[in-house]
Amino acid sequence: MKTARANESGGAGEAEEALLYEKLAGRKVRCELCSRYCTIADGALGWCACRENRGGTLYSLTYGKSTGFAIDPIEKKPFFHFKPGTRSLSFGTPGCNFHCLNCQNWFMSQAPKEAERAFDIPSTVPEKVARMAMGADGVAYTYSEPTIFFEYARDCVLETRKLEEKEGAPKKDARYHVFVTNGYFSKECFDAVEKEHLIDAMRMDLKGFNEKFYQKTCGASLEPVLESIKRVHKSKMHLEIISLIIPTLNDQKEEIRAMSKWVAGLSKDIPLHFIRFFPYYKLSHLPQTEEKTLLKAREIAREEGLKYVYIGNTLLEGVEDTRCPKCGELLVARSALQVTLNKIEDEKNPRCPACGTKIPIVF
Ligand code: SF4
Ligand code: SF4
Repeated sequence: MKTARANESGGAGEAEEALLYEKLAGRKVRCELCSRYCTIADGALGWCACRENRGGTLYSLTYGKSTGFAIDPIEKKPFFHFKPGTRSLSFGTPGCNFHCLNCQNWFMSQAPKEAERAFDIPSTVPEKVARMAMGADGVAYTYSEPTIFFEYARDCVLETRKLEEKEGAPKKDARYHVFVTNGYFSKECFDAVEKEHLIDAMRMDLKGFNEKFYQKTCGASLEPVLESIKRVHKSKMHLEIISLIIPTLNDQKEEIRAMSKWVAGLSKDIPLHFIRFFPYYKLSHLPQTEEKTLLKAREIAREEGLKYVYIGNTLLEGVEDTRCPKCGELLVARSALQVTLNKIEDEKNPRCPACGTKIPIVF
């Protein structure tokens, strides 16, 4: 059952009945969207303050409440091994199922918990998002956490596909859809994404490699994130991982080694991005990450066998480039998150032009 949908002319619209929840006795519900599995009493909100139980029915408050529309290079997400050089329509909604002390988008991600009228913004219906997507190569569901606007993201994907079909676009020119996610989505959510082939690629956070860090800094747990990464890796979706290195909190060499070893255990081909932290929000008292720490992290990850390790948020030269792991040939050069050179000739069968090694990049 759905309540009245948001209208395109910018009306505030109404909430949409949630997907992925179970009705319990006493008009309670159990939300199955993310690994928190909140049990929510009638009239109450879930942990994320984005889903509300109204009389035993769970509603998504984020539906249509998109904001921050921009067309960005896919490298900005960052994806370095998926559709390099393309541009993605990017947006998010208020809300998140984490509470990271360093959140760059805290005014958006934490708004439902901290501000009274977080959702009192004009709605953008999926049909309109689909029309905007026609001006880009794909769509990135990003900025906050796409899991908490899953119903909306799903409809945006389906509407985009419908519009492409209507316009007679060949399948090969279909827009891609990517999630930029903290990886806390539930198995049920992941299964729903897979069942309808909604998402082509996920850029997932691995914010640290110890439980204490996840609890203290993100208000969450590490294990569900690892499970999600394993699921995505096993699926047909393309996967890239980023890790923000925060001085004193998750920059210990042993932890970086353990994380790298774990990722390499899944596949040495998974791109791993170490990102520089800048003091912000509730971690303004910490210094920015030193470049030597990031370079050391890259060295450790390479020692553990990872073939594609990148450094982000610095002016260091060459740290965003892709080189052949066998012969060292420069394959894709990037600067300021844009592709400046691409030496891979056959994009259907990407190989190093110097030694022929197969390179896992999806063009
Ligand atoms: S999305 Fe997660 S945090 Fe939000 S209500 Fe559902 S289970 Fe709870
Ligand atoms: S998961 Fe991302 S959006 Fe959510 S609070 Fe953390 S940094 Fe912010």
